[in-house]
Amino acid sequence: MSLEEEPIEIVIPEPRVLPTPEEKAKLRRKRIRFRLWFYGTLVFLIYGFLWIQPYEIDMVKRQPPVATPMLDPDTKHLFAKGTKVLVVTAHPDDSEFFIGGLLTKLSRSGAELHQVICTDGDKGYYLFFTDAAKNRVVRREEANNAARAWNARSLKFLAFPDRFLHPNQDVVDKISQEIERVKPEYILCFDGAYPPRASHQDHRRAGDAAKLAAEKTHVAKWLMMFQTGAPNYVFDISDYWEDQKKLLTIHKSQFFGSHLTGVENMIAYSAEKDGALIGADMGEGLRCIKLK
Ligand SMILES: [Zn+2]
Repeated sequence: MSLEEEPIEIVIPEPRVLPTPEEKAKLRRKRIRFRLWFYGTLVFLIYGFLWIQPYEIDMVKRQPPVATPMLDPDTKHLFAKGTKVLVVTAHPDDSEFFIGGLLTKLSRSGAELHQVICTDGDKGYYLFFTDAAKNRVVRREEANNAARAWNARSLKFLAFPDRFLHPNQDVVDKISQEIERVKPEYILCFDGAYPPRASHQDHRRAGDAAKLAAEKTHVAKWLMMFQTGAPNYVFDISDYWEDQKKLLTIHKSQFFGSHLTGVENMIAYSAEKDGALIGADMGEGLRCIKLK
């Protein structure tokens, strides 16, 4: 018997084929197309997010041009019986959220209070994912009930679209008409020039529009701006904190359950911070400008 040697399989590697110049160009075009698609989608998503969300964020904190010393906006007169005050806000819950304590204090002192709300709050808390028509009805009703609770003499809705407010001529003219009708000595509005670093765009725009209307009409003596990063007067609202909390609960569609608790804590934090400036438990800091 003879032993046969097993055949040895010899594998010869395929010679490496280098891509031709045409193939190289094709590959390069493919890579460029992918990068364009990837970065384009990324930019689109970032831009879309910034467009859809309602907040404006200042990368650098806005500092007032000069340090603003504390200033008394004729408070004795402000709290006198019959003093006319016009509140200009962006959304149906803003007045109770930001100055509910001050409004209660003014109401109990006998001031005559009026309000203008620039939008109907049709986007609500969840932006585009809610029924705008239903929001308008519900939020108008809540705002009416809240205004009744702090004895507003009148409440006017300008019905501009929520989230897209601009201080254009139309908005300024409509606020001006209310100023001419009410003839307030004081206007309470958002601070559009020195807001906190992150705040709702509509708040800033409503503040800008109210300031333009106040300057145009020459009716009010004082502009008093809330949600400000540069307060120059602080109102003591320690005795009205519980009233402010009650006012918040009127906006049932916006503040409920754990969200209501979160909002209360947020407002309490801000009120305690402002109160500390004047040695009070709770305060509301405003930036006041004398108009005439
Ligand atoms: Zn608001």
